[in-house]
Amino acid sequence: MRHFTKPDDEDIRFFRDIAGDKNVISGGDDIEPYSHDETEDYRFAPDVVVKPSDTAQVCAVMKRCFERGIAVTPRGGGTGLSGGALCVFGGVCLSFERMNKILDIDTKNFMATVQPGVVVETLHNEVEALGLFYPPDPASKGSCTLGGNIAECAGGARAMKYGTTKDYVLAVEAVLPDGRPFRAGAKTLKNATGYNLVQLLIGSEGTLAAVTEATVKLIPAPLVRRTLLAPFDSLETAAAALNELFLKRVSPCAVEFMEKEAIKSAERMLERSFPYSDSEALLLIELDGSDADAVNADVEKAGGILLEEGALDALVAEAGHRQNEMWDMRRAVGEAVKKISVYKEEDTVVPRAALPALMRSIKSIADRHGFTAICYGHAGDGNIHANIIKGDMDELRWRRDLPALIADIHRAVVGLDGTISGEHGIGFSQKEFMPIAVSQTALEIMISVKRAFDPKGILNPGKIFPDAPGEGTSHSGGGQ
Ligand SMILES: Cc1cc2nc3c(=O)[nH]c(=O)nc-3n(C[C@H](O)[C@H](O)[C@H](O)COP(=O)(O)OP(=O)(O)OC[C@H]3O[C@@H](n4cnc5c(N)ncnc54)[C@H](O)[C@@H]3O)c2cc1C
Repeated sequence: MRHFTKPDDEDIRFFRDIAGDKNVISGGDDIEPYSHDETEDYRFAPDVVVKPSDTAQVCAVMKRCFERGIAVTPRGGGTGLSGGALCVFGGVCLSFERMNKILDIDTKNFMATVQPGVVVETLHNEVEALGLFYPPDPASKGSCTLGGNIAECAGGARAMKYGTTKDYVLAVEAVLPDGRPFRAGAKTLKNATGYNLVQLLIGSEGTLAAVTEATVKLIPAPLVRRTLLAPFDSLETAAAALNELFLKRVSPCAVEFMEKEAIKSAERMLERSFPYSDSEALLLIELDGSDADAVNADVEKAGGILLEEGALDALVAEAGHRQNEMWDMRRAVGEAVKKISVYKEEDTVVPRAALPALMRSIKSIADRHGFTAICYGHAGDGNIHANIIKGDMDELRWRRDLPALIADIHRAVVGLDGTISGEHGIGFSQKEFMPIAVSQTALEIMISVKRAFDPKGILNPGKIFPDAPGEGTSHSGGGQ
């Protein structure tokens, strides 16, 4: 196991001098919320939580940890689904919850500059009040932060039309593990000035630098949104119907997929019933734009195509109660499925046309191994979250047989030209599967990049890269 220095009383005094007494937690029950994120049942308590209020404080904390060899793990809203914010070697949890200000909304240049702890929905609300739009919309938007979204390159339902976080971040300020701050990118829509460090940080899962500020691009807010719900009698028919929409030139901003058991879980959790919840699969489709007549015409066209392709109905909702009801169902599904029992989530992504084959593969692999897989996700991007449910399976079998099942799913995904994470990242929970998706040479390049940013390996250790022999963590909980 790798060795890091455990923060001692003097370190804790130093952190208190920097961030203020009440912004440092070094024991007791208050540490517990920082010992997990939303990934399965993993638990790793940090030795100390430090909540800086500005970049200078982040620099001082990082410099101290670098000099002393203390592990540091950045943390945003703690909603991650691959264990990225878990302090797997203890040390310092660097929580950005106090750096939560929107510093500027530039309505002339359509940009916003934010601190990393801003909750995504807060940014949505603030910019939409000005007629502007920040499209990335993870289902966790009410509690995840911009810093966490940058670290994971978060997507969401609207990614198929508008792209993911990487398409909106123009510039960042970040702090290296040795405490040096730097800026990358510029407040411009174009930039061809050397290596693109902004894009390198996006999706780096808090392993290269701590992001302390970001400038994001905004676009004009669409004025009209219409939602369409289409039930199907099989998962594959639903997935195949989607391709026809695109071939016939309908461009929704979101196409979400839910299978029956996922919908039923949402009904149980919310104690409400949803339309068509007895159908085998549902597609939830959203179309938006600025011209109501054009959007309405597209909705009609989409409904017709879906019916021709095997949909059992096509229910249209304009803005208002019915539309919110449909999205409530979709947003609840993730949490509801995870409440069924201990689970393991795979964030599979394939080229969109391979979705029917992906559905077939996930189900047949799960059957072959004797496990249950419940699927839902962002079908428009080919991104399906396959949740493997433990149910009443005994612990020994779950731990023994699960890795082989997951490896088979990942091999099938890669065989379909896809990859093993679309938006949740590799973090702690998927790192042993990296060699299935990433070649040895590509892995070596990534490790060299990591060393260039973090020569002592103190920043978010135990993530992304498979453990070298003898370097693993003794983790608590967990499904692997
Ligand atoms: C119910 C539910 C639904 C979800 N739906 C979606 C979805 O639709 N799309 C999607 O993409 N994800 C989704 N997620 C996953 C999760 O919300 C995202 O990964 C999100 O980006 C995590 O943000 P966070 O602020 O919670 O980060 P955390 O979980 O706190 O951290 C995530 C990673 O970011 C790093 N990090 C955090 N802040 C910084 C910083 N300032 N600098 C450097 N690194 C940092 C951490 O070290 C960690 O590696 C969902 C999660 C849940 C629980």
